Amino acid sequence: MPKWLKAVLRFFVGEPIAQRPASRTSRPTGAASRQRSYPLIGLKEHAGEGRPERLHWKASHPSTIRRFKAEVTCSQGHGIALRDHTIEADGRVVPSIVCRTPGCDFHEIVRLEGWRAGRIPAAI
Ligand SMILES: [Zn+2]
Repeated sequence: MPKWLKAVLRFFVGEPIAQRPASRTSRPTGAASRQRSYPLIGLKEHAGEGRPERLHWKASHPSTIRRFKAEVTCSQGHGIALRDHTIEADGRVVPSIVCRTPGCDFHEIVRLEGWRAGRIPAAI
């Protein structure tokens, strides 16, 4: 800005225009705040007949749901029965699901979206 304008401003404002110190961008130092957990994958309920499609789940027949709970299909299309898992009331499956089909590396923590049968423990 021209000198004369500065002078005018100084005259009206009464002090030189000071530059603000640039606010430092501080890096978050919290490595502790980083979560080291598996992401939770939400599986959708299979609608209709037959086996669930990939990454979907299907509840067992009401007469056997306490034992067999549900069947899911892994990302490679293999069927997995959840006999030995606990299903929480919100649909979360404990422990994580491992596909036993040779050559398949599907291993995820999943939640059965829309699960309505309540909590079913692994063993009764
Ligand atoms: Zn699989």
